[in-house]
Amino acid sequence: NKEILLKNRPDGKPSISDFEIREIDEPQLNDGEILIEAQYISVDPYLRGRMKDQKSYIEPFKLDEPMSSALVVKVTQSKNDSFSEGDFLMGNLPWKKIQTSNGENLRKVDANQAPLSAYLGILGMTGLTAYFGLTDIGEPKEGETIVVSGAAGAVGSVVGQIAKIKGLKTVGIAGSDEKVQMLKEKFGYDEAVNYKTTQDMAKAINEGAPNGVDVYFDNVGGEVSDGVLANINHFARVINCGAISLYNETEMPTGPRVEPILVKNSAKMQGFIVRNYQDQFQDGIKQLATWLQEDKLKFEETIVEGFENTPQAFIDLFDGKNKGKMVVKTS
Ligand code: NDP
Repeated sequence: NKEILLKNRPDGKPSISDFEIREIDEPQLNDGEILIEAQYISVDPYLRGRMKDQKSYIEPFKLDEPMSSALVVKVTQSKNDSFSEGDFLMGNLPWKKIQTSNGENLRKVDANQAPLSAYLGILGMTGLTAYFGLTDIGEPKEGETIVVSGAAGAVGSVVGQIAKIKGLKTVGIAGSDEKVQMLKEKFGYDEAVNYKTTQDMAKAINEGAPNGVDVYFDNVGGEVSDGVLANINHFARVINCGAISLYNETEMPTGPRVEPILVKNSAKMQGFIVRNYQDQFQDGIKQLATWLQEDKLKFEETIVEGFENTPQAFIDLFDGKNKGKMVVKTS
């Protein structure tokens, strides 16, 4: 059995030496418990925030203790009446290959309804983030233009497709020509921009969105966003979902000041965390599953094989090595 611990708090970009993989004994199963084996592990940008020793909406990881995230697990033994051997469950769990649980906060997932990894992406946290962020904060209206940053990632690829369902013109921003092509061909983006080869983001967005930007779904922050914000329309809605370009900064860079842009355009900028919508998760999953069934939504995954490769898969998020949702298949 193995577990993955946080060894150091990274200074800047995380590296492999910030983690430790440790051999541990297989746990003893007590009455009321289940023995569970990890199948898929979600690696997510927000985990970077939890590696810092700072107050946030979620507790920081402790040094020399296991990292944790959303896992899909298989019940291999049960001494709990609510669960049977062979059940697949998901929930927030420590990065251990085999562990016990009393089953609290774990929910069953159906391997026949969707691939198990999908419960960590399109039918999990990132799908819900796209759905609630866009539909609730973005207030999308038919005929409007939306720009999405981080558009080829887990959240961004879903945002663009939901926006299309709602009748918007979609402009995606991503970090390679291959991703730009995928945005257009797989996710139906009308226009796509490679921010890594674009000198002048404001100009590129102006060309992609000649009628201006009504909704900006921001996953990355920083200079990319400066270029988009220069193009917002009257009554634009800016959704601050994430700011991955800033997560590894040791000193926060300052950019153009946004206040006059927001005032001038009567624009709204709002951050959120998906947990705010916890009470509505079942509705959100139902809608996403329906769209999937109707083939109105497609999803992409980058699946890394091997429990031991979980830290590297996480680090690779910051180099854009994933298309769609990054997940680790443990065996
Ligand atoms: P992604 O699947 O989008 O993976 C991260 C992607 O970010 C990479 O593939 C890379 O794509 C891009 N990226 C990395 N570094 C930079 C950079 N310096 N500048 C611009 N882009 C960069 O991850 P998620 O979909 O899981 O998350 C996307 C965002 O949404 C994150 O900021 C995350 O924190 C946030 N989030 C927020 C939630 C909430 O509740 N508010 C919930 C879930 C996610 P590329 O090749 O295009 O550079």
